[in-house]
Amino acid sequence: MVLAQLGGSISRALQQMSNATIIDETVLNSCLNEIVRALLQADVNIRLVSEMQKNIKKIVNLDDLAAGHNKRKIIQQAVFNELCKMLDAGKPSFTPKKGKTSVVMFVGLQGSGKTTTCTKYAYYHQKKGWKPALVCADTFRAGAFDQLKQNATKAKIPFYGSYMESDPVKIAVEGLERFKKENCDLIIIDTSGRHKQEAALFEEMRQVSEATKPDLIIFVMDSSIGQAAFDQAQAFKQSVAVGAVIITKMDGHAKGGGALSAVAATKSPVIFIGTGEHMDEFEVFDVKPFVSRLLG
Ligand code: GDP
Repeated sequence: MVLAQLGGSISRALQQMSNATIIDETVLNSCLNEIVRALLQADVNIRLVSEMQKNIKKIVNLDDLAAGHNKRKIIQQAVFNELCKMLDAGKPSFTPKKGKTSVVMFVGLQGSGKTTTCTKYAYYHQKKGWKPALVCADTFRAGAFDQLKQNATKAKIPFYGSYMESDPVKIAVEGLERFKKENCDLIIIDTSGRHKQEAALFEEMRQVSEATKPDLIIFVMDSSIGQAAFDQAQAFKQSVAVGAVIITKMDGHAKGGGALSAVAATKSPVIFIGTGEHMDEFEVFDVKPFVSRLLG
């Protein structure tokens, strides 16, 4: 993944700084500028980047560092901590409990990988002994129900949807009732994405959310959307109570920066990443290993 390029650039900047005989203000500034450039190229939101730069400069006060301290290590650690902080939402997301009914609603733009991710999420839990079920409340996109049906059938996960009904709220409520009766412990609702942020999409999401009262709303975002990540994530958060984020297509030309922006915009943690089209190409997201890998 292109994410490695970001790690490569940051590592190089730190290495260059390490190679300098004396680390003074100029060396530190030039290192930070390199890191800033790498983050911007990786589509991290510009406001986040300048905040990070400011924080590092605040933490790393060269004058205060007593002689003998390993300045390079301190700076490296500061960069690591700041990146972790950017990816830390401050609180964990709601975690469904096995055996107790939880309702999880998925939102995101059309093409973001939402339907695929719903099945991956269901499949992941099914393998761990849960009883998941999928509800297709996307009545906007032709073929959405067929796609969900196909995925669900392949994974042997019960599903609910309709070719005739055009009201997504009605389908969501019906599906929910059915699967509650069947004692499913993880009821997943896939919603419409439309193709851009329209008022109608957000209104529909609000209605489905109102009617189904989900325990968790997961925002699905395509990692390749670039600088648009922050605004897009924020728009979703302003419409419904997004509680977690899943970033898809991290296997492609993803630059990774979108993940950082989405966390900042939604104040919600990334819980999984999608790394391919297949059902099991899905990984739990963990901040520290992710940043370590990023920094190489
Ligand atoms: P939706 O419109 O948001 O429901 O998006 P879909 O689930 O239909 O996905 C759109 C396309 O992205 C499909 O071709 C998926 O196979 C593909 N896709 C979804 N997640 C991933 C992923 O993590 N990696 C890759 N490479 N493709 C993905």
